[in-house]
Amino acid sequence: GTAGVPTTDEKQTAKSYTSDQEVRWCPGCGDYAVLAAVRSFLPELRLKRENTVFVSGIGCSSRFPYYLNTYGVHSIHGRAPAIATGLATSRPDLSVWVVTGDGDALSIGGNHLIHTLRRNVNLKILLFNNRIYGLTKGQYSPTSEQGKVTKSTPAGSLDHPFNPVSLALGAEATFVARAMDSDRKQLTEVLRAAAEHRGSALVEIYQNCPIFNDGAFDVLKDPGERERRIVPLRDGEPIRFGPDGEFGVVQDGFELRVRKVSEVGEDAVVVHDASRTDPGYAFALSRLGGQDLEHTPTGIFRSVSRPTYDDLAREQVRLAQESKPGDLAALLRGND
Ligand code: SF4
Ligand code: MG
Repeated sequence: GTAGVPTTDEKQTAKSYTSDQEVRWCPGCGDYAVLAAVRSFLPELRLKRENTVFVSGIGCSSRFPYYLNTYGVHSIHGRAPAIATGLATSRPDLSVWVVTGDGDALSIGGNHLIHTLRRNVNLKILLFNNRIYGLTKGQYSPTSEQGKVTKSTPAGSLDHPFNPVSLALGAEATFVARAMDSDRKQLTEVLRAAAEHRGSALVEIYQNCPIFNDGAFDVLKDPGERERRIVPLRDGEPIRFGPDGEFGVVQDGFELRVRKVSEVGEDAVVVHDASRTDPGYAFALSRLGGQDLEHTPTGIFRSVSRPTYDDLAREQVRLAQESKPGDLAALLRGND
């Protein structure tokens, strides 16, 4: 994935990737853990920071580029994959990442996302999924649970949610994975594999919005609905994040309840060959658990190789230039 991007011998640390911008997410936001994981993982790639670009759309997670000491674009709502496609296609010397959320990527940007994936543009897409619009203060999103009570759905959401992993597999994305903000080890493994992948890599990251998710079900008639919140857990215990992305600062009212399949028990671990060409089996796995996050698998669902859009497009331009050298004078003369 990063082949062709200049590397450096400069000693890099998480600090090298930390910008001077004050991080402005709510205390307890899952975004802190993802930022910390990305900052400590990037030095592994040994890429030149000036050849690394993070393109985001609009939303809480889309503030991400400000906090990284790389190039970045805080772009327009839903359009980050389109802007990143232009960059990746014209600049093979860049490592291009997209940061987006469930609202940004799947609602206004749904079209851009699926077409980027089917084209297999060489982009790494981090889709932060908290099942809510956080920045605009708590409206339901395309991944919100049916029945979810939000400011825009006071009587409960009627919409059936997308499963982003299933959606990406349906678009035949060549790399599809799911991770959780709280599982630093698996998140880093998934990021590493995505970075190595040549082509579109979609990584869904479950990330809680404690401000607008926790307590969202209190007014539902069925108390079982409360079980469906997205919440991080480590070693069976709630994880609490501090404002600096550090573990250990306790936030009140941050109840937690999600397990990965691998933590449920040995018989629930799925050994899956992600290199299968047919996405059908990965798709079936992506359906496990349904809306019930207690049993939702995380890990790499698909990792196959297919020519990338940007490589093919550059090759087409090269062949066209070779077969018929440009004639500027003729162009300027026009048709006569
Ligand atoms: Fe995070 Fe939610 Fe606050 Fe946004 S509103 S920064 S998603 S906790
Ligand atoms: Mg969201």
